[in-house]
Amino acid sequence: MEISAIKSQLSISTILHYYGLKPDKNAKMCCPFHEDKTPSMQIYYKTQTAYCFSSNCKTHGKSMDVIDFIMHRENLSKHEAIKKAEEILNPATRKNNRLSDTDFLTNMFTYFRNAINNSKPAKEYLEKRSLDFTRIEVGYNSGQFHHGERKTEELLKQALEVGLLQDKGLINNRTKRKATALLQNGASALP
Ligand SMILES: [Zn+2]
Repeated sequence: MEISAIKSQLSISTILHYYGLKPDKNAKMCCPFHEDKTPSMQIYYKTQTAYCFSSNCKTHGKSMDVIDFIMHRENLSKHEAIKKAEEILNPATRKNNRLSDTDFLTNMFTYFRNAINNSKPAKEYLEKRSLDFTRIEVGYNSGQFHHGERKTEELLKQALEVGLLQDKGLINNRTKRKATALLQNGASALP
């Protein structure tokens, strides 16, 4: 799919919704790409772009379109982000390009690693143990990674297969799906 075709079909609203992000009535929100206490990110629905006004942000100074947003959000290359955008537009294509176990685990770890930035308890815990998360390979998850926006059949299935989730025969009331996090709350992926 051409980038222009993707951009014309995939709105910034769809992307925000996909990642569980919700701008306020002034189209502002806390930036998901840096530790943001006041809403620094402005969404521009006219141009279908987002811009972070914080100079502490890795995205600062650059207007982001939907592809850029996916790139930053998932730590992907542009090429991978385009593929991802196609999947979001057409979930049926996903079945044909199932990730290898290594890629899946790499993606999950990247997600966990990025999560440290957004978790005060994780950062405090690491500090207490004198671990510098900017220098070591460490990640964090509250044990909810398979819930909410990220929860797809694909993710659950593969997470069970690689052993990231364990089927304990419990059925989540809301989703009626079987899957329980093997990870513990708190310092899940810590060594
Ligand atoms: Zn930012």
